[in-house]
Amino acid sequence: MDGEELDERVNVATRRVYVLAAAVATLAAGLTAGPVRELGPFADLRLPWLAFVVAFALSEIFLIHFEHRREAVSLSLSTIPLVVGLYAVDPVLLVAARVLGSAIALVFHRRQVALKLAVNLSHMGLEVAAAILVFRALAPDGGFGVASWPAALAGAVVGDILQSAVLTAAISLYQGRREGGLALSMAVGSAARLIDTSVALVIVSVLRSEPAAVVLLAVACAVLLWSYRAHVSLRVQHRQLAKLYEFTGRMSNAMLGERVVESLLTEAKELLHADVAWVHLDVGTGHRRIVLDTDGQLVTEEQPGDDATALHDRVQHAGKAVILERVDEPALASLGAQQVLATPLRAAGAALGTLVVSNRRGEVRSFATDDLPMFATLANHAGVALANNELLERLRHEASVNEHKSLHDALTDLPNRSLFSLRVEAALARGSAAAVLLLDLDRFKEVNDTLGHQHGDDLLQQVAARLRACLRHGDTIARLGGDEFAVLLPDVPGPEAAVGVARTLVDAVDQPFSLADVTVDISASIGVAIAPHDGRDGTVLLQRADVAMYLAKGNQSGVELYERARDPHTPERLALVGELRNAVADDELDVYYQPQVDLATGDVVGVEALVRWNHPRRGWLSPEEFVPVAEQTGLIHALTRFVLGRALQDCAVLRAEGGPGRVSVNLSAKNLVDASLVDDVVASLRAAGVPATALCLELTETTIMREPRRNVVALRRLADLGVTVAIDDFGTGHSSLAYLKQLPVGEIKIDKSFVLGMSSNTNDDAIVCSIAQLAANLAIPVVAEGVESDRIARRLEQFGCGIGQGFGFSRPVPLDELRRWVAARRGSIDLSRTA
Ligand code: C2E
Ligand code: CA
Ligand code: CA
Repeated sequence: MDGEELDERVNVATRRVYVLAAAVATLAAGLTAGPVRELGPFADLRLPWLAFVVAFALSEIFLIHFEHRREAVSLSLSTIPLVVGLYAVDPVLLVAARVLGSAIALVFHRRQVALKLAVNLSHMGLEVAAAILVFRALAPDGGFGVASWPAALAGAVVGDILQSAVLTAAISLYQGRREGGLALSMAVGSAARLIDTSVALVIVSVLRSEPAAVVLLAVACAVLLWSYRAHVSLRVQHRQLAKLYEFTGRMSNAMLGERVVESLLTEAKELLHADVAWVHLDVGTGHRRIVLDTDGQLVTEEQPGDDATALHDRVQHAGKAVILERVDEPALASLGAQQVLATPLRAAGAALGTLVVSNRRGEVRSFATDDLPMFATLANHAGVALANNELLERLRHEASVNEHKSLHDALTDLPNRSLFSLRVEAALARGSAAAVLLLDLDRFKEVNDTLGHQHGDDLLQQVAARLRACLRHGDTIARLGGDEFAVLLPDVPGPEAAVGVARTLVDAVDQPFSLADVTVDISASIGVAIAPHDGRDGTVLLQRADVAMYLAKGNQSGVELYERARDPHTPERLALVGELRNAVADDELDVYYQPQVDLATGDVVGVEALVRWNHPRRGWLSPEEFVPVAEQTGLIHALTRFVLGRALQDCAVLRAEGGPGRVSVNLSAKNLVDASLVDDVVASLRAAGVPATALCLELTETTIMREPRRNVVALRRLADLGVTVAIDDFGTGHSSLAYLKQLPVGEIKIDKSFVLGMSSNTNDDAIVCSIAQLAANLAIPVVAEGVESDRIARRLEQFGCGIGQGFGFSRPVPLDELRRWVAARRGSIDLSRTA
C-alpha cells in the first residue's frame, strides 16, 4: 500500500470515528438534558461543584498503570468522584464536572489530539449520564443506607461498560477491523469499579457523619495511592530489567546463529509492546530494512523506500533515541506508523543502522519519554550483538575461503596435496582397497620454456580438465605442484583395474592440446601404488607411486605398478648401495657367460656377458636386483668398466682357444651419456688385445629412444670403432624398424618374452616372424633370446632368425664352465659330423 492510499484510508477512518463521537455526544447530551435534568438532587448532602471538576481532572492526570496479559492497561480513579457525586451533587452538574474536568486534563496534561479528545469526552458524558440514571432507578429515594450501595456500584459498572463499548467501537472503526479487547477491559473495569465504589462510599459515609474526617481519609488515600504508584513503577522497572537481562542473554545466544536480527526485533517488539519493529541497516553498498511485522513475519527490503531512509537519516542525525509522531514526521505515513520509537544502532562508535519500533499495542499509553532509556539500552546491546554477529559471519566466511584456499590449487582449483592426503586417509580408514596414481607430464618443461608460462598454465588447466573428465564421481584428482598430479581411486577391484584407469589417463593426455594458435603434443607417465599392499598411509603411497612413476618415465612405458624389488628407497636397497660400492671396489662381482648359437650350423658364435654378484650374506644376486641400484647411484660406470674389462679379457682367452670370437656386453642409458665411454672401450680392447669386432654392445630400445639424437652421436662413434651395436629387448619399446635403419645398428635381439611365448601364443609367433622378416629386409642380423627348446630353435630358423640364445643351449655360466661346455659341444658336433 503506498502513502496516498494509506492517507485516504486514514481519512475515511477518522471521519467515521468523528461520526461515532458526535452520536455518543448527542446521546449523552440528550440524556442529560432530558431524564437526568428531571431527577434533581439525590439528597440533602451538597458538595461544591468545582471540587468535582478538580477531582475529575486529577483522576485523569494521575492514572494507575498496570499490565494485564502483556497489554499495558491504565485505569483512572474517576469512579470515586463519580460515585460521591451521585450522592452529593446535582446530576446535570455532575455530568458537566466530568466533561469539563477531564477536558482540562486531556487537553493540557495529556495533549490529546482532537479525535481522541472528541471520543473520550463523549463517552465520559455518556458514562456519567448512564450511571446517574441506573443509580437513581435502583436506589431507594434519598437513602444513604446500605441499600443504596449496590445501586451505586451498578451505576458505576454500567457507565464503565458503556465507556468501554464506545472506545472499542472507535478503535475498531479506526483500524478497520474488529478490536477484541472489550471483554477484557470490562472484566478489569468491573473489578476496579468495585474498589473505587467502596472507597467512594466510605467517603460519602464520612461526609455524612463527620465531614472534617474526609481530610484524614484523603491523607490516608493519598499515602496509599502514592505507595501503590511507587510499587507499580518499581515493578515495571524490575520487569524491564528482567526483560533486558533476558534479552541480553538471548541476544548472546542468537549471536552464534544467523537469526540475530530476528531475535533482536522480536525482543524489541515484546519489550516495548510494539506492533511492528524493524532495523534499517547501512550495509556499505546500500541500505536494507528488515521488518518484523504485526503477524511476526520477517520481511527484508533490499532497497527501502525514501520514507524509510528519511526516517533512518533523521534518527542518525538526532544521534539518540527519539519518539516521533506521525503529525510531526510525515515520513511515518507510508511506513504504516502512527508513532515510533527510534534509536541509532552503534557498535564501537561506528554507525550500523537504526532500530525502530512502531505503534504501541494497548489503548491508553503511547510511547513515552520514560521508554527511551530502556530502548537505548536495548539498542546498545543489539549493536554489540549485531557487530559481533557480522564479525562472526566475516570470520566464518574468511575461514571457509581460507579453508578452500588452503586445500586447493590456485591454478586449477583441484584439491592440493593436503586435501589429497586427507582423502587418502579417509579412504584407508574405511578399509577400502584404494589406488594412488601419480602422474607426471613428459616434455612439459619444453612447452613452458618455448611458449612461456602463460601457455604453460593454460596447458595445465586443460590437462586438469581432461583428467577430471576421465574419472568417476568419488575419485579424487589433485595437483601436487608443477606438472605433477595425483589421483585417488577409493575403491578398486585390483591392480589391473587401477592400471586400466591409469592407461585411460595417459591416453587422454596423449591427444594434442591447442594453446592459442599452436597444437602441442605432450605425454604423461603414471606410477600406481595399491593400498594396503604398498602402504597404509597417504605419504607412503604417494612416495611409492612416485617411484613407479619414475620407472614408467625411464622405461617410457606410460604406466608402472609399484614393486618393492624395484624401489631404490627401501632400507634393504639403501644397504645394498653401500655394499655394492664395496663389491665393485673389492672385485666381488663376477661375470657369467651365455652362449649364442648359430641356429643353422649349431656353431657357438658368441657369448653374452652377464654380471653376477655373490653377496656375502644374501648369496647370488640377479643383476635385476642390483643393476638398477647401480644405475641410480652412478656406480654403473665402475660396474660397466669392470664387466667390459673382464669380458674382453675372457674373450681373448676364448679366442685363443678357437672358441666363440665375440662377446656382448650390456650398457645402461647412463653409460651412453658418459663422455669417457668410448675411451674406456678403446682402453679395454687394447688391454685385452682383441679387435673392436670382437665386441658387441647391447642397448635396449627404450635406452636409445630416450634421447635419440644425442645417443645416435655416441652410437656412431662406437660403430666407427668397429664395435657392433645391438638393440636389446627389441619389440618392447615403440620404435619402428624403419627408424632403426637410420641408426648404426648391427644386430637386433628379439625380446625373450616373445620367444618364450611362441609355443603358446600365436600372436607372439607372428610378431617374432615379422621382426625376423623385416630385419632380413634391412639386412640386420637377428638374435633370438629365450630359446628354451629345440622346437623353438627350429621354428626360429624357419623364420630366418640367424642366432639363438637361451636356456635351451645353456644358462649363463662362469667362464670355465662355458669353456667346458663349448669343448663338449664341439666334441659332440665333431662326433655327429664324423658319424
Ligand atoms: P638381458 O640383457 O636381456 O639378458 C638376458 C637375460 O635373459 C639374462 O638374465 C639371462 O639369464 C636371461 N635368459 C637367457 N636365456 C633365457 C631363457 O631361455 N629363458 C629365460 N627365462 N631367461 C633367459 P640375467 O642374467 O638375470 O640378466 C638380467 C638383465 O640384467 C639383463 O637382461 C640385462 O639387462 C641386465 N644385465 C646383466 N648384466 C649386465 C651388465 O653387465 N650390465 C648392465 N648394464 N646390465 C646387465
Ligand atoms: Ca642383453
Ligand atoms: Ca635381452
